[in-house]
Amino acid sequence: MQELEAKILIAGPCSAESYEQMEKVCHFFSEQDSVHYIRAGIWKPRTRPGSFEGKGEEALQWLEILQKKYPRVPFMIEVASPTQLEAGMKYGLRNFWIGARTTVNPFLVQNLADAIRPLKNLHIWVKNPMHPDVHLWLGSIERLENTGSCSMLGAIHRGFYHHGKSPFRNDPHWSVPMQLKTIRKDIPLVCDISHIAGKREFLHEILSTALWLNFNGFMMEVHPEPDAALSDKSQQISFNDFLRILQTLKKNNDFKNFIPESIRHYRKEIDHIDFEIIQLLSSRMKLAAEIGEIKNIFQIPVFQPQRWKEILSTRPEWAEQAGLSCHFIEKIWVLIHNESIGIQNEIIRQCAQKKINTPDTP
Ligand code: PEP
Ligand code: MN
Repeated sequence: MQELEAKILIAGPCSAESYEQMEKVCHFFSEQDSVHYIRAGIWKPRTRPGSFEGKGEEALQWLEILQKKYPRVPFMIEVASPTQLEAGMKYGLRNFWIGARTTVNPFLVQNLADAIRPLKNLHIWVKNPMHPDVHLWLGSIERLENTGSCSMLGAIHRGFYHHGKSPFRNDPHWSVPMQLKTIRKDIPLVCDISHIAGKREFLHEILSTALWLNFNGFMMEVHPEPDAALSDKSQQISFNDFLRILQTLKKNNDFKNFIPESIRHYRKEIDHIDFEIIQLLSSRMKLAAEIGEIKNIFQIPVFQPQRWKEILSTRPEWAEQAGLSCHFIEKIWVLIHNESIGIQNEIIRQCAQKKINTPDTP
């Protein structure tokens, strides 16, 4: 867990299918200690009836037994209604995620929030809604936050429904989770790489992008025998594949802390240059102050349009000759000139004040 302290990992099968399957999962994750929650679907939201819809309460009984046998990693399940929440609580569960098909509907989220309000210390993770609407996602988070019952409230990016051509099951539309991250810096944001990818072969690509975008962690579907899984079998990975992903995460972590010597060297030089820039700016402002004294004596207005025009035409030109952007230098000189004007105005104000305080003797 040490090396990955910064990343939250939620892993486990799409669905809890049997006691034996869940025992293998618990055994594996308890042994190698890298995962913060074991996920397991109890009721599966399926597009059409007749496909595997989860084992329901029977699976909750397995989880209750297994949580006692393997207490190190807590379970997390999906709930879509107060009834499901109550059932989970009855079997000792305290960590829940809200699925995309629930987040999309404020009525359903509010029902859940009302059921959560009298409870305490829940961990709730909110998946994005089916379509890319950051406000709907935020709204669900806020409804749950307003209950005051969540000791942990997080967001899960699982991609968005699309009907165009895309290799992925759900369109990642990365700008939406990034918007959420900007608005709610305090909410941890993890990426459900499995439900975005839809196929094992795309997991690495999604993982790399999510790492690059600095997500706070990952959700992924891991199954003891992925090809025999009763739901989402093409996106679930084996324990060995999970270990390989873990290696990538660890390498990335090391890599993130690594600063090459050449960068340290250049940074030192930059420090010297910045120091000199500050000394030069200080000298420039002292000269501006001298000019301020003279302007005061001769009663010359501080702002001289002609001089400002001259500055604005020469500095960008010099910048261009030096390979710098004119626009950048123009912006800097607006600031420098304003500062000089400010210094001179202050000198004139102080001189006027002195005059008032020491009136001429008749
Ligand atoms: C799931 O995580 O198993 C699931 C159904 O997710 P989503 O709500 O993202 O479709
Ligand atoms: Mn799934």
